Amino acid sequence: MKYIKKKFFIEGIKVRNLAKKFRTPIYCYSYKRLKENINNFKKNFKNLKPIICFAVKANANLKILKEINKFGLGADVVSLGELEKVLKAGIQPKKIVFSGVGKTSEELSFAIDKKILLINTESRSEILEIERIAKRKKRIVNIGIRLNPNTDAKTISQISTGKKQDKFGVTEKYFLELVKYVKNSQYIKLKCISVHIGSQILNHQPYLKMLKVVDRVIKKTNYKFEFIDLGGGMGIPYGKKIKSLNYKRYSSTIKKTLKKHKAKIIFEPGRSIIGNTAILVSKVIYIKKGINKNFVIIDSAMNDLMRPALYGVEHQIIPESKNNNFTKKTYDFVGPICESTDTFLTSKKFQKLYEKDLIIISDVGAYGMSLSSNYNVRPKPAEILIKGRKINIIKKRQKLKDLI
Ligand SMILES: *Cc1c(COP(=O)(O)O)cnc(C)c1O
Repeated sequence: MKYIKKKFFIEGIKVRNLAKKFRTPIYCYSYKRLKENINNFKKNFKNLKPIICFAVKANANLKILKEINKFGLGADVVSLGELEKVLKAGIQPKKIVFSGVGKTSEELSFAIDKKILLINTESRSEILEIERIAKRKKRIVNIGIRLNPNTDAKTISQISTGKKQDKFGVTEKYFLELVKYVKNSQYIKLKCISVHIGSQILNHQPYLKMLKVVDRVIKKTNYKFEFIDLGGGMGIPYGKKIKSLNYKRYSSTIKKTLKKHKAKIIFEPGRSIIGNTAILVSKVIYIKKGINKNFVIIDSAMNDLMRPALYGVEHQIIPESKNNNFTKKTYDFVGPICESTDTFLTSKKFQKLYEKDLIIISDVGAYGMSLSSNYNVRPKPAEILIKGRKINIIKKRQKLKDLI
C-alpha cells in the first residue's frame, strides 16, 4: 500500500479505480500484507513452536479465513456461528479452540461433536454443563480453564480483560479448586491453562506480569498441563509515532518463564494478523463550515467502522490523491449517522479537500467489518481482496432490499 505518482495503490491496483467500479464505502485488503504478518508472527515466535489460532472475532470473512487456513493457522472462536464458519473455511477441528464466558449447551454440544482441540472454560457451571453433555454422549472432552491473572494490560479500559473486576476467567483460588475437581472427572480431561489479558497491548510489561502469574499458578496446581494458551492481544501501531509490541522480547520471556513446564504454547492473535491489512475507502459527501473547523462528512459511518465510536480510538485518514496543498482549517471527519459519536478523526493538518474527493481510513482489517452493523438501515459495505493485480470481491455490498 503506497502512493505512486500521488495516487494511492493497494498492491497493483489504483484505489480510485476500485471506488469507481464498486462505489464507496469499500473495505480493501492486501493479500501481501496478510502473508507478511503471518510470516512475521511465525518467524518471531519460531523458537516456541506454538499453535497459532487466529481470533476470528477480529475478522470473520470466509475468504480471509480460507487464506488463513492455507497458511496453516488454526482458529480461536467465541460462538457457534464462528465455529461453523471456520469449519466451512476448512480449518481442522484439531486446530480450533473455543473461548468465551457464556457458551450455551447448544454451542458446547456442537463443539464436542466436532472434537475440537480445546474448550476453554470460564466457570464451574460451564464445566458441569460440559460434563453432563459428555456423559450423555459417552465422550471424553478436552478442556482448558481460563485464569484471570489480575494483570492490568495497560490498554484502553474497554478492551482490558485480565483484571480481577473483569468478567473473564476465574481467580487464582477458584482456578486451583477447579483443577482439583476436574482431575477426578470421568468425562473431562484438563489439558490447558489459558489467559488473555486484553487487546492492543503495546508494552511488554503486562505480558511479563501475566507470565509470572501463570508460572506461579501452574506450580501451585502441581498438574502437568499439555497446553499453555497465552491468548492474543499483541498491539499494532495505529499512528506513525507508535511502536508495535516487541515480539522477539515477548517470545524470549515466554521461553524463560514457562519452558520448564514443557507445555505446548498456543497463541490467539487477531489484530496483529489482520489489523493493518485493510483500508476503508470513502467519499466526501459534503464539507460544512463549523466554528473554528470544517466538518468533512463522508459516506462511511460508525455502522461501517465502529471502533472510534465504541472505544474513542483513532484511525489515521489519508487522501486518495495527494495535492500537497495544505489547508489551515481543522477538519473533523464525520459520518452521516444521527449520533454525535459518529466521528472518525479531528485533523489539524490535512490537504485541502473538496466534495466528492476520496479519502482512506487506515488499518481497519481488525474489528472493522466484524463489528459493522445495519444501524440507520445502512447496508454493509463490500469487501475486496487484492492479490497483486487481481481483484477478488470477497463480500458483496449488502443490498438495500435485503434490509427492507
Ligand atoms: C479477542 C480475543 C483474542 C484476540 O485479541 P487480539 O487483540 O485481536 O489479538 C484472543 N483470545 C481471546 C480469548 C479473545 O477474547
